Amino acid sequence: MATANLFSPPDTIVRAPFVNEAFVDFSNGDNRRAMEAALTEVRNQLGLEYGMVIGGKRLRTEEKIISKNPARPDQVVGVHQRAGVEHAAVAMEAAQKAFASWSRVPVQERAALLFKAADMIRERKFEFCAWLTYEVGKNWAEADADVGETIDFLEFYGREALRLDRAETPIQFPGERNQLRYIPLGVGAVIPPWNFPFAIMAGMTVAAIVCGNTVILKPSVDASTIAARFFNLMQEAGLPDGVVNFCPGEGPDFGAAVVAHPQTRFVAFTGSKAVGLEIHEQAAKTKPGQIFIKRTILEMGGKDSILVESDCDLDAAVEGVAASAFGFNGQKCSACSRVIVDASIYDSFCDRLVERVRKIKVGDPVENFAAGPVISEKAYRRVLEYIEIGKGEGRVLIGGEAMETESNGYYIAPTVIADVAPAARIAQEEIFGPVLAVIKSKGFDEALKIANNTEYGLTGAIYSKSRTKLERAREEFHVGNLYLNRKCTGAMVGAHPFGGFNMSGTDSKAGGPDYLLLFTQAKSVAEKVGVAAEAEDEPMGI
Ligand code: NAD
Repeated sequence: MATANLFSPPDTIVRAPFVNEAFVDFSNGDNRRAMEAALTEVRNQLGLEYGMVIGGKRLRTEEKIISKNPARPDQVVGVHQRAGVEHAAVAMEAAQKAFASWSRVPVQERAALLFKAADMIRERKFEFCAWLTYEVGKNWAEADADVGETIDFLEFYGREALRLDRAETPIQFPGERNQLRYIPLGVGAVIPPWNFPFAIMAGMTVAAIVCGNTVILKPSVDASTIAARFFNLMQEAGLPDGVVNFCPGEGPDFGAAVVAHPQTRFVAFTGSKAVGLEIHEQAAKTKPGQIFIKRTILEMGGKDSILVESDCDLDAAVEGVAASAFGFNGQKCSACSRVIVDASIYDSFCDRLVERVRKIKVGDPVENFAAGPVISEKAYRRVLEYIEIGKGEGRVLIGGEAMETESNGYYIAPTVIADVAPAARIAQEEIFGPVLAVIKSKGFDEALKIANNTEYGLTGAIYSKSRTKLERAREEFHVGNLYLNRKCTGAMVGAHPFGGFNMSGTDSKAGGPDYLLLFTQAKSVAEKVGVAAEAEDEPMGI
């Protein structure tokens, strides 16, 4: 694959058609050894302090954010600055200054920066996997999927920006040259969650900057190290000062201050429903001096269902439900947290699911156990509270408790709770941990009704061999990402543009052909050409 150098002339960009980054095969000895070496190397760098970087200047604050390994809370992964409310204006000034030049940089050069960063991450893949393992507790394959998705976003959005640049108006009006240009919006706030701390953080950031915007990036307090390392890599790749302003900070103070700033043109947020709605509300309040309507791109929570029909391949359904519910300990917005099972196969499905879940080994992700800890003490307490609620709302088939370890990691046993009513709290509220509710359905109509009975609408899946049921699900199962006869997690950039309905967000479809439009505004330009036409020949209308 040929790679353009950053700031090379536009016509030298040659990039092969997009393909998703291949997953690493960790059963291969070389790959295993490479991962082990990376884990050792990264362990030697744990506890380093990182700067806050505004307009290219590294700043220190008195108060710090300490990022810890959830598998060993005594182990500090990174020490970060803590941006305060007062830093919002400083970061905005730097981002606005950079916008004046960055917005005029040819899109080919901006795309070349993304391609160069993709190449650099590819070369250092195991190192980034190791950081994810230490900072958020991903096992090796989950960490690799996060790194692969990051590379995919860089590659995909680079190409998408080049495609947008070639956009044309659908019609050329006689006597005119008509043009449609997608120009940047201005300065944006990028506010990612901790659970895909590389892919979502980097994806939202590079989508914004490749379109010519500049950003204030506020990573999650639980995953600031991976963001700091990404920022450093972007600087190495040639990112000009002020295009991304790296500001670790707390959401409710620094994050909220950036959202409220009158010059914040847009907010790209991924996180919980509660915070997304708060941002939506705050961004809608026009401040003195604000001359635009802020745009919000909000991707929020989920309460995702899998329907298991009597005519399905039961082995595939059991495997798909277990992977969707317990992959990364259920800490994916796309995770299956409700399985809706036809009454005629309910008991046998439950038995087989329990056998499958029993095989999930829980332990330190550094040693590549399938299931690791939940992210923090706060999450640990929340999930255990939901398990207690679940004990009153159903029958615990397996799990249902915390797991003690010498390292004091935040481990919770994969938990399946059966006989849960569709309106029960554990069937309605996002738990974001290794807890699955099993709901019995009588007939396909009822199953579909239950699937659609939450306020969310992110992902969903159905296992069935009936073409009629699959087609009805295609029409009636109201989710942004629907999967037929496969698990409901694991969206691939380009193939499964990702985003949800209803309280799951604004359906922005990350990794899809419409995503970059959200970071641009279209300008239509008509130029009269040829001999000046008579006034009455000019178009009428708006
Ligand atoms: P969160 O909402 O607690 O935090 C997300 C980000 O918002 C963090 O950076 C946080 O510091 C910041 N924040 C918090 N309060 C803020 C405020 N008042 N103003 C501005 N920023 C603020 O979410 P989380 O725990 O980091 O992530 C888990 C959530 O993210 C789950 O609900 C999950 O479903 C969701 N998620 C959704 C998607 C998706 O694509 N729909 C993807 C991943 C995660």
